[in-house]
Amino acid sequence: MINIVLFGPPGSGKGTQSQKLIDKYGLIHLSTGDILRNEISEGTELGVKAKKFMDAGELVPDADVIAMVIHKLTEYDDPMGFIFDGFPRTPEQARSIRHSLTDKDLRINIMITLEVPCEELISRLVKRGEETGRSDDERSIIEKRLEVYLQQSKPVIDFYDKMRKYVAIDGMGTIDEIFDRIVCAVEACI
Ligand code: ADP
Repeated sequence: MINIVLFGPPGSGKGTQSQKLIDKYGLIHLSTGDILRNEISEGTELGVKAKKFMDAGELVPDADVIAMVIHKLTEYDDPMGFIFDGFPRTPEQARSIRHSLTDKDLRINIMITLEVPCEELISRLVKRGEETGRSDDERSIIEKRLEVYLQQSKPVIDFYDKMRKYVAIDGMGTIDEIFDRIVCAVEACI
């Protein structure tokens, strides 16, 4: 079993690269953003609560996200592994998932951070907003999400760095070039 954390700021390409990793390694995609958007579209209690935070570009509270992820992990029998996309996004989330996995004799093998310059992130997200109408891909909310990433999420890097699981990958180039870099890093850890 291989468990990968795909980390990086909004717009760094986590979703795109996750899809390619799933195809190559047969992993299960666990995107907290996708799960939350699904909760919103189904109008669940969690969705109603999460929407307020997401529309403001803020993080959904740790307790809600952690419970949601732990529940999701129990839905699969004997998986090949998971790609955690957009999770953990705070040190508290990182600690919690570590405990939950350790309880099951499992672990995160590698934490990959996609590095992309800020101006490029903004232009990618503005373009995505125009193409898809995703409500948080609007300039002022994009800026807020980037600020939240720097202040609340970036410390997650230290957590994995201390355990020697952190690998930084250049997130600029073609989708295939970036994927090749990721595969090199994954192959080196399995
Ligand atoms: P992006 O990486 O482009 O911001 P996501 O789909 O991963 O896109 O996240 C969209 C929003 O969902 C975030 O701005 C946040 O409000 C919420 N969210 C997603 N994952 C988490 C998480 N792990 N913890 C808290 N909030 C989250």
